[in-house]
Amino acid sequence: MAKYKIPRGTYDILPSESYKWQYVQNTFRKVARLYNFKEIVTPIFESSDLFERSVGDSSDIVEKEMYKFNDKKGRTFALRPEGTASVVRSVVENNLDLDANSTKLYYMGPMFRYDRPQKGRYRQFYQYGVEYFGSDNALIDAQTIALADTFLRQLGLKNYKLEINSIGNATCAKDYDSALINFFEPHFNELCSDCQRRLEKNPKRVLDCKNKTCKSIAKEAPSMLDYLDEECSTHFENLQKYLTQMKIDFVVNPTIVRGLDYYTKTAFEFIDSNLGAQSTLIGGGRYDGLVKQIGGRDVAGIGFAGGFERLLLSLEAEDIKIPNNDKPDVYLVTLGEKAETISAELLMKLRADNISTEFHPDKKTMKAQMKAANRSDARFVILLGDNEIEQNKFNLKNMETGEQELVGFQEMVKIIFQ
Ligand code: AMP
Repeated sequence: MAKYKIPRGTYDILPSESYKWQYVQNTFRKVARLYNFKEIVTPIFESSDLFERSVGDSSDIVEKEMYKFNDKKGRTFALRPEGTASVVRSVVENNLDLDANSTKLYYMGPMFRYDRPQKGRYRQFYQYGVEYFGSDNALIDAQTIALADTFLRQLGLKNYKLEINSIGNATCAKDYDSALINFFEPHFNELCSDCQRRLEKNPKRVLDCKNKTCKSIAKEAPSMLDYLDEECSTHFENLQKYLTQMKIDFVVNPTIVRGLDYYTKTAFEFIDSNLGAQSTLIGGGRYDGLVKQIGGRDVAGIGFAGGFERLLLSLEAEDIKIPNNDKPDVYLVTLGEKAETISAELLMKLRADNISTEFHPDKKTMKAQMKAANRSDARFVILLGDNEIEQNKFNLKNMETGEQELVGFQEMVKIIFQ
């Protein structure tokens, strides 16, 4: 029995699985590049105040789920529960909004939330996301959504749905909040204690509640779409026009409010119903007031984030095989002392030629080494014994076809690369 156990809600990415993570991460990088986004990397902890001010202290993330700690000087930090706040902090601190090459950003990395773990929900999870600063044009919303859609398509996923909504700007959101308060107040005593609090602090969040009674009451609630002012409804119409033009399927779902305080206008989610309770693959939206709120200029912004864990679950559910390139090109089998001595140099030469190699010095027999070669999934085996050394050649075996030939070093490299 292992003496130490991994913390609840976390997991190891084991060597047999890591190629899948590399694949989805590389694909995300590739797609981000297609849209000319640059990577930004921020620390995994920040002043907890940053999240309280931006994500909002009425959100579950801040109210219940943040890993907060004091450092040795008594300063309060939090492990980041999401990526946007940190990116916006960096934009403001480094004036990135003034540099045209630094306004389209993507990130990847671990996030932390103290929530009840279940399938697709962990306490440490890995998000990928983008943020786009400097324009409130609906075409940018459509481009941001298109980036997410391109990513999912490039992975081969098909069974997901895009849902969009508009949650208005500060003015119309206020009217809508009043309408919600009027609607929910007669039901106040039936609402869960969380929602009773939400109704006061952020009434839209009642629409997000998973509690059965709250949900059934919320069904009859007024729709945000009836409260949009002209600017917001034109923006929303334009978004739909661009998505249609781009042939990206979507449905309008007026109940999407997103859990964080900072959203304005567009909110969207990519849903995969195969995933059960945790079915949101990607969530995102516009946050035009956030940069200013954090002390920056009045710069518009929009972004999304998704979790790699749910992505891998979706790929599994759709039976999509992830290519495994994490195998050596060559396994070197040596027979005899001379070959073993030469192997030290040969391994260096192969790697200098960009050939990934494997060997095992403690396995002496041909049989034991061939068994290990098979297990390693190497594409080729190089057999090196006294005979080959005498002729200054190598016995190269193609493990797929079983073909074997005696060749010089340069010829061997050529065949391996073919
Ligand atoms: P959010 O930041 O809550 O909008 O979440 C954006 C996306 O991150 C979700 O759609 C999920 O794919 C992923 N995600 C959020 N929370 C978790 C979690 N606790 N475990 C795994 N993935 C998560």
